[in-house]
Amino acid sequence: MPVTLSMPADFEVPSAIGRLVLLGHPVAHSLSPRFQNAALRAAGIPLQYQAVDVAPGDLAGVIESLVAARAAGNVTLPHKERVAERCDLRTPVAERVGAVNTFWCTLDGRLCGDNTDVAGVHASARALLGTVPHGLRVALLGAGGSAAAVLAAAESWPGAEVRVWSRTAGRAASLVQRFQGVGRVETDLTAAVAGAELVVNATPLGLRAEDALPVAPQALHAQAAVFDLVYRPGETAWVRAARAQGLRALDGLTMLIAQGAASFERWFGVAPDPEVLWAAVGGRPLDAR
Ligand code: NAP
Repeated sequence: MPVTLSMPADFEVPSAIGRLVLLGHPVAHSLSPRFQNAALRAAGIPLQYQAVDVAPGDLAGVIESLVAARAAGNVTLPHKERVAERCDLRTPVAERVGAVNTFWCTLDGRLCGDNTDVAGVHASARALLGTVPHGLRVALLGAGGSAAAVLAAAESWPGAEVRVWSRTAGRAASLVQRFQGVGRVETDLTAAVAGAELVVNATPLGLRAEDALPVAPQALHAQAAVFDLVYRPGETAWVRAARAQGLRALDGLTMLIAQGAASFERWFGVAPDPEVLWAAVGGRPLDAR
């Protein structure tokens, strides 16, 4: 039975990290090695952050060898939930989301997991909205692991209400079941986004140039802000289309950088320089554009 770490009292900053890795399948496209290695160099930490492609059937064995090597790192699709299950200790946020994107090992060989995607959602909401207003109406498209991180973040937005739409309605229903205080299922996409002040894409739509838009910007409220968890070079088609419509819009790069910065802080006890991270990916935060 895994133990929940109550942050920050029980938090043990890992020492003597043997390896720093990103586990996923696929991982070749990830920007994390680029900015994590820049942060390591800037901080004078003699480690390399390596992306490791792990097929699902190999995950269990790879985790055990990483624990033996006292590794730390990140986890991405499709492994976040399984790594969470394997962790001996989980932070309350990882427990709430049911997924781990950041791990490390204690000196006595216990595997610890956190979820910094939630911090990434908060950072993106702040970048888009400034202070999150009371009673924010949110439309959330998608009901997978990252949608759970959005709901976990929204739980701390006073009075927020999140309408969750998913192509597979049953998946939205089981997600909302876990976040009843803030979420409710909406089976009709047009109804989900009508009147929403923040519209979030937590589906993979937009990763490929040929993808359809998650929802037409014309269907959104005139004051809506658009938050796309997806990122790609030159921003996503949805973000560009929303801006062309006069809406505030942000792609997933801010979330990626913020979750990575929070992971770095978990591993090393110091925050990386955000300018170093942004420079490494050739971007700028929204307020600096
Ligand atoms: P996931 O667990 O696989 O969930 C994906 C969700 O999107 C599911 O609800 C799925 O519905 C839906 N979906 C998939 N293809 C769709 C389509 N063609 N049309 C409509 N809905 C579709 O994935 P996840 O971990 O939540 O991640 C989702 C995306 O968020 C990723 O692809 C990634 O680009 C992005 N992400 C970004 C960051 C960041 O730091 N910026 C972090 C995490 C994730 P079904 O159940 O019907 O398949």
